[in-house]
Amino acid sequence: MVEKEAPEELKKWVKEKWGTKNLPPGGIVPFHSAYEYKTGDWSAFKAIIDKSKCISCMNCFYYCPDSAIEMDDELKAMVDINYCKGCGICAKHCPADAIEVRRLTR
Ligand code: SF4
Ligand code: SF4
Repeated sequence: MVEKEAPEELKKWVKEKWGTKNLPPGGIVPFHSAYEYKTGDWSAFKAIIDKSKCISCMNCFYYCPDSAIEMDDELKAMVDINYCKGCGICAKHCPADAIEVRRLTR
């Protein structure tokens, strides 16, 4: 692996902005914080589930990388749009063609 030095202008900018002793702590995310941050709120695309087609196989529940799918009391899938990023993985793995990814309009 070849290690690269930061470009001089970047080093200069960091030094001017932060000095050398006042760098803020970086990349620290509070423990157990996933629910606090609505990780899907930047995306305009959301999965929409037609519950009348859902056969409760739970593929979407297991495949969703953001744990945005929940199962209701009748074991039908539903999407928490606060966490859905609209990636469409759930729709790809739905055997009943019950999921569509749509662009939300305001
Ligand atoms: S579109 Fe992606 S993020 Fe949204 S529920 Fe489906 S798998 Fe999860
Ligand atoms: S993958 Fe489709 S059929 Fe299976 S639980 Fe999800 S919405 Fe229902």
